[in-house]
Amino acid sequence: MNLLSFSGQLVYAVLVLFFFIFVLFNLVEKEYRALRRSLAVFLFLVILPVLFYLFLSSTLVLFFVVILILIIIFMLIIFLSPTPKGQLQIVSDQARIDERDIIFARFDLKENSPEYNAYYQNRPEYKAGDDQIRQLPDLFEPQHIQKDPVLMSLGDAEFEFLEHQMTIVNGEIGREKIIRSEEDNNHMIRSILRYLGSDDCGICRLDSSDVYSHVGRGPEKYGSEVKNTHKYGISFIIKMDFDMIRHAPRPPVIVETAKQYVEAAKISVILAAFIRRLGYSARANIAGSNYQTLMVPCAWKAGLGEMGRMGILIHPRFGPSIRIGLVTTDLPLITNKPIVFGVQDFCKKCQKCANNCPAEAVPKGDKIKENGVLKWVIKREKCYKYWRKVGTDCSTCIFVCPYSKPDNLFHNMVRNLATNFSAAQSLFVWADDFFYGKKPDIRKKPHPFQK
Ligand code: SF4
Ligand code: SF4
Repeated sequence: MNLLSFSGQLVYAVLVLFFFIFVLFNLVEKEYRALRRSLAVFLFLVILPVLFYLFLSSTLVLFFVVILILIIIFMLIIFLSPTPKGQLQIVSDQARIDERDIIFARFDLKENSPEYNAYYQNRPEYKAGDDQIRQLPDLFEPQHIQKDPVLMSLGDAEFEFLEHQMTIVNGEIGREKIIRSEEDNNHMIRSILRYLGSDDCGICRLDSSDVYSHVGRGPEKYGSEVKNTHKYGISFIIKMDFDMIRHAPRPPVIVETAKQYVEAAKISVILAAFIRRLGYSARANIAGSNYQTLMVPCAWKAGLGEMGRMGILIHPRFGPSIRIGLVTTDLPLITNKPIVFGVQDFCKKCQKCANNCPAEAVPKGDKIKENGVLKWVIKREKCYKYWRKVGTDCSTCIFVCPYSKPDNLFHNMVRNLATNFSAAQSLFVWADDFFYGKKPDIRKKPHPFQK
C-alpha cells in the first residue's frame, strides 16, 4: 500500500508540475483566459492533498492510491487509442482550373469592360452574387483606410510593393548549365531557402492540373493560355506572427499577411533568378497576383502539411498561420511525399473554425468532392464578402485553430500526442475550448504600432 501511495504521490507531483508549466507558458503567451483557468487548476491540485492532510489525514494514503489508479486508467485510454489515419483522398482525375474563375480574378474585372461582359456571359451563375459584393468597398478603399489609417496604409504599401515585383518573376536562362546530382540540388535548394528566410520547404512533381489553364490576373494577357511545362514545384512556407493574427479580423492581420507575402515574393524571385543562373528554367509565383500554379495543392504534394476544414494548408509546427511561396523549375530534384499527422481526424472532431467564422463560410458537415478531391470546401463568396465588409482578410479561422498555437516545447508536445493518439485529439479539442474558449478572445490593444 505504501509503495502504491508513494507512486501516487510521484505521478501527482508530475501532474502539478505539468499545470505549473502550462501556467508559465500562458503567462509568456499572454493567453489570459487560459492563464486564469490553468492557474485555478494548478491551485486546486496543490490545495487538494493539503485539505486531505488537514481534515481527512487517515485517508491520505488511499487518496494517492486512487489518484494513481485514475491516472493509469487515463494513460491507458490515451496511449491504447488508435493512431489517426485519415488522409486526403484524390477520388478522380483533376481538371485544370481557369484562373479567370478565381474569386480575386473576377473582382479585378472592371465593371462593363469587354472582359467583364465576356466573362459573365460565359459564367452567368456568378453574376448576381458578384455584383452584390461589388456594392461593398474594396479592401483598401478610403472607407476602410479611414478606420485605421496607419495600419491600412501600411498594408496597402506592402501590396503596392508586391505589384512592382510581378514583372521580375521570370528572365533569361544562363547559357552554361551547371550539372549536379539531384541529391546535391535538393540539399542546395533547402539550404538556400533556409538562408533566405523560409521556415520549411518541399518539392513536388508538377501535374498539368497544378497549373492554371488561362491567365486571370497579373501582368500576362488576360485569358491567354498558361504555358508552364516545368517538371517541379519548389514550395516553401513562412510562418506568420501569431501576435498579429490574434487581432483577427482587424487591420493587423492584413498587415501581417501582406508582410509575409512580400517575404515569400522576395525569396521566390531570388531563388528563381538563382536557378536560371545555373542554366535551368525557373519562374517565381508571387501573390498579388502572379500565380500560374495552385499554391496549396503543390505545398500539400510537397509534404508541407495537410488540408484542414478551413480549406487551407495546416503545417505540422505552425498550423494554418503561414504563407506559401513557390518556384517552378526544370532543375533536376528529388520530390517529397504528402504527409499525414492527424489533421483529417482532428478536424472531424473540431469545428472551431466553422463555429467562429463570422460569415458562416466554413462547412460544419462532411467533405465533398471538388475537382476530383474529397475535401472540406469553404463558401468562397461568403468569405470574400466578409473581407470587403471588414476591409481585411479576416483570418479569424486561422487565429482560432488549435494548430495555430505557437511553435514551442509545450504546444509541440500536444501536437505530437494529437498526431499519434485519437483519444488525445478528443481531449485536446475539449481542452482547447475549456482553456482558450469556444470563442477565443481577440487582442484588445488597438494596434501594435501605438505607443
Ligand atoms: S477568413 Fe474569416 S470569413 Fe473567411 S472562412 Fe476564415 S473566418 Fe470565415
Ligand atoms: S479549427 Fe479545428 S476544424 Fe478548423 S481547421 Fe483547425 S483543427 Fe480543423
